[in-house]
Amino acid sequence: MQPPEAGRAVIQFRHCGKDIYCFRVPDLCPVCQQPMRFRKLDEAPVSMATPLIHGHREQCVFLLRPTRGTFLRYSHFQRDYDGNADLHVGITNTLGIVYNYNEQGVHRDEAGWEESISVPLLEPNMFGLMDQWDKHLEEFSATDTWSPNRYEEHCHNCYTYALTFINYILSAEGKHPLDKDIFTEKFVVPRTRRASKYITVYRAIEEHGFYIIDRLASDTKLP
Ligand SMILES: [Zn+2]
Repeated sequence: MQPPEAGRAVIQFRHCGKDIYCFRVPDLCPVCQQPMRFRKLDEAPVSMATPLIHGHREQCVFLLRPTRGTFLRYSHFQRDYDGNADLHVGITNTLGIVYNYNEQGVHRDEAGWEESISVPLLEPNMFGLMDQWDKHLEEFSATDTWSPNRYEEHCHNCYTYALTFINYILSAEGKHPLDKDIFTEKFVVPRTRRASKYITVYRAIEEHGFYIIDRLASDTKLP
């Protein structure tokens, strides 16, 4: 079943030296108003890869979404995730159930994460760990550490829960723990930036029908 607010696919093509984004290739180019004809292969329409992932179809990943609403409808999206309480995070098990912690304790969500930013936590060859993942996640979540009364908005929150689990797994694997800032900088921020760009394009198309970038401006990196 499609979630009610699932995004439409964004299509990108080139015409008149511009990158043009839309939901449907128009009959006339929105820049030159001429019938659309693509002379070169790199001008032809392609789907823009979405950074917003159906979280319940992902195994063993870290997910991030707005606490309320969805990214495509969300008006206060911060470009760089900084622990903002308006965003909520969780971890999926191998069945796509999203474990997450808030002031009511640990939740095991089977819906609601259909449009999330996803950070994979397992290398493709870590089958052994994947076998144990659900058991680890369930045991970890059942401890008193994640009871409702321990919740604290700034220092014992959804992010603490997810990162502590990641470090629990790393230590079980004999690896060094990840510092919150390093995890955020290295794994989360690059994805929230990409999502932020996508959301900008998406909303502009909704509002104006198109989003147009001058290729010279986007290709050329001036000092
Ligand atoms: Zn044109």
